Amino acid sequence: MRTNFSPAMLVDPHLAGVEKNLRACVHCGICTATCPTYVLLGDERDGPRGRIVMMQRMLEEGGAPSAETVTHLDRCLSCLGCRTACPSGVDYAQLIDASRAHIEQHYKRPLRERILRSAIANLLTRPAMTKFAVGLARLFAPIATRLPGTLGTMARTAAKALPRKSKGAIASLGGARVALLPGCVQQALAPEIDRAAARVLARRGFDLVALKGAGCCGALAHHLGRKPDAKDFAKRIVAAFERAGGSDRFEGVLITATGCGAHLADYPRLFADEPDWRTRAERFAAKLRDFSTLAVPRAAAPPRKLRIALHKPCSLQHGLKLEDGGAIALEAAGFEVVQIPEGHLCCGSAGSYSILQPEIAGALRTRKLDNAKSVRPDVIAAANIGCLNHLAGPDAPPLVHPAELIDWAEGGPVPVALEGHTFVTDVKPNRK
Ligand code: SF4
Ligand code: SF4
Repeated sequence: MRTNFSPAMLVDPHLAGVEKNLRACVHCGICTATCPTYVLLGDERDGPRGRIVMMQRMLEEGGAPSAETVTHLDRCLSCLGCRTACPSGVDYAQLIDASRAHIEQHYKRPLRERILRSAIANLLTRPAMTKFAVGLARLFAPIATRLPGTLGTMARTAAKALPRKSKGAIASLGGARVALLPGCVQQALAPEIDRAAARVLARRGFDLVALKGAGCCGALAHHLGRKPDAKDFAKRIVAAFERAGGSDRFEGVLITATGCGAHLADYPRLFADEPDWRTRAERFAAKLRDFSTLAVPRAAAPPRKLRIALHKPCSLQHGLKLEDGGAIALEAAGFEVVQIPEGHLCCGSAGSYSILQPEIAGALRTRKLDNAKSVRPDVIAAANIGCLNHLAGPDAPPLVHPAELIDWAEGGPVPVALEGHTFVTDVKPNRK
């Protein structure tokens, strides 16, 4: 595709990357059918090809975009299903990231939206604040969850997080050291996931060491287009890793939420315009490991041989490009693993998307649950806290992280979501 950026604009390495990707797009439309918002809404402007046209126009012209452009770009989930489908190698992430940053810089949103986005950026990125908000939502659940609009959506999201027990620090066992990033939202909603991961990996000779002073990975800020904030979060994490000994001390770096993992892997691109930080970010990103690659398959016998529908978060399959998603390790641990039809489609969680775009997120959730329930699972497993929390509810099978299931099969505690639960495989079909 032809582009019309001026040479002066292309001095910016982010825009130079954008231009390269725009030129690679041949407008074939192969990506369109894989786009969740196009599948739902059937509007070219809500599919990748239409968005690419709008993004090119907006970035070439500069200045404030139209409300229409912002609406259709806001509806993008950043799921990157289109990037996986594209035969021309267009890196859609570069385009949408640069566009979100441009919108944040040049477009004045209505006051209500500005307040909401600011609340997400400042509240959900701080574990203490998230814990406080979840506590409030649970306390006032009968009223808060009935509120209309976004407040009600936020209250329902927070209130359905299961009450979690904290069980002390992760003990060092003296194995090969892996730096653990506790993150922000997961630390508040489900700290037991990291504890289960620590036990699973300890059995495989890894010693998880929580990285002090790391904080949030910045993915939420990044997806809101708040580039300076996203960079600050990233710098804090890279600096914490280096302070703790860096590549010389650690065999790897782990975060057990794939949404954060995919963003961490992208840190070098975030610093395209800061060469020193880019080099540091590359050293850090080279050490990243996903739980599914560290938890090598090991034979075990779970207390119950459950049927697991494996939900592969977009960040895992399209971001990190890890196809297995823990299936082999779960099967080795003694579970039956079944794939979910339309597994490539996003569940609608997508960071703060479920709060900012509740109708589309809700429709995608229903579609994902209908597909999952069609394979009659006892449990849905997902390695991302956003998906776990978004999909959970009275209409859903229990949602569990693969680390908790593997840990349970290998002698660890029963996952919180499975305590006292009646499983599909407990129910005997009526015989006439
Ligand atoms: S992004 Fe790729 S698949 Fe989509 S229209 Fe462009 S070239 Fe075709
Ligand atoms: S990132 Fe996802 S929602 Fe956005 S255009 Fe691509 S496929 Fe569609």
